[in-house]
Amino acid sequence: MANFRVAVDRPQSDKTWNRIPIGNVLRFDVWDRRRRILLGSAILAAYLGMPVFCQPRDASDAQLVLIGGTIYVSPAEEPIRNGAVVIRDGKIAAVGRRTSLRIPRATRTLDCTGFTITAGFWNSHVHFMERKWADVAKTPAPELTAQLQAMLTRYGITSVFDTGSMWENTRLLRNRIEAGEIPGPRIRSTGEILYPKGALSGSPPPLMDALGFMRVQIPEVATATEALTASQKLLDAGVDGIKLYAQAFWPPRPSLPESAIQAAVMEAHRRGKPAFAHPTSREGLVASVRGGVDVLVHTTPQSRRWDETVLAAMKESRVAVIPTLKLWKYELRHDRMSAQEQFLNAGIGQLRDWVAAGGTVLFGTDVGYMADYDPREEYALMAEAGMDFRQILASLTTAPVERFGESIQQGRIAAGLAADLVVVSGDPSKDVRALAAVRYTIRGGRVIYQARN
Ligand SMILES: [Zn+2]
Repeated sequence: MANFRVAVDRPQSDKTWNRIPIGNVLRFDVWDRRRRILLGSAILAAYLGMPVFCQPRDASDAQLVLIGGTIYVSPAEEPIRNGAVVIRDGKIAAVGRRTSLRIPRATRTLDCTGFTITAGFWNSHVHFMERKWADVAKTPAPELTAQLQAMLTRYGITSVFDTGSMWENTRLLRNRIEAGEIPGPRIRSTGEILYPKGALSGSPPPLMDALGFMRVQIPEVATATEALTASQKLLDAGVDGIKLYAQAFWPPRPSLPESAIQAAVMEAHRRGKPAFAHPTSREGLVASVRGGVDVLVHTTPQSRRWDETVLAAMKESRVAVIPTLKLWKYELRHDRMSAQEQFLNAGIGQLRDWVAAGGTVLFGTDVGYMADYDPREEYALMAEAGMDFRQILASLTTAPVERFGESIQQGRIAAGLAADLVVVSGDPSKDVRALAAVRYTIRGGRVIYQARN
């Protein structure tokens, strides 16, 4: 695991945001193209009556200052009251008390009095799998902007890990965002999920249609050799990690052998990339952890309590857990209330035990599979499991950047880091649900979402 952490600190060469700063000629080419695209988008947006948040970065907004408010530079430090953040060329130039900073004149400012400012949020479990994303190449920019806003940017999400979608389509979405055409989050993706043999091959396309998902060719594997071949194919195509479905929760509940999990994980780690697993059951969880995965994308309410043996195996492997608590209510929404409650409480109990054991938690909600995108309840449920505001903030900021090898570039508010910031109303340290009351979402110094009132 140490290997991939070092390796993913390398810049990702296929991303446009890394190419933009190389040389003036390329930079101006990209900016000119961006302006032309923006003009087209603006005309279309005006026609459709939609807001345009995508703004060209030119001299007038290369600098931006957030003035006033309470700033949590990281979950571990005391907040700065009545602070200011100076942003220059997409990066944080300075942060401190408002009175101690020299604010450049004639700079664009956002008044954040009465608000709280934190680093940009990660949602480490999303999917670009609903049919609305199916034809990214042909979908107009304003429509994609509105969809990204509804699912992510309006909730302060500046980075996502997509843990299962059609890679070629998701890559196109990322390219359009990185070209500056669409205001959206940084996207990392595992592409297609590796399923156990027989998990989905019997599923008729109309079922996927009824569930609202795109039709995707799903790789299914039974052996270590097949898992290795399938993961090599995905990694060769440029995915940022591997996602394994350790055990299906529907009959006949096929599972991946531990050797298959290990083969895929080792190949991902060899290329400096993380591996994720959907555990479902105690057996799926233990096989995933023993197989070396870096992130469990869910708790496992089917298996009730995580006993000492399970918790010890998880701790020893230093796996991170994404709780997805709200999802458990959503999954059982057609069932009796008592069944819902029991299922949800099992998930809450597992998270409580994991946090008490000092385990790493990453925030993630499974939006894109779950059609209800609002994270407010997830925050409240994480608090119910015993996480305080600072622990929840860590799951949104420092924990994911450390896990994914990004802590040199982002995750805190400090000079030199990417200007990925969230401004929320009120005080989330008093009520954590305030983390969902977003005023501004800023990525790389650009306002990519702004509340209307
Ligand atoms: Zn999912």
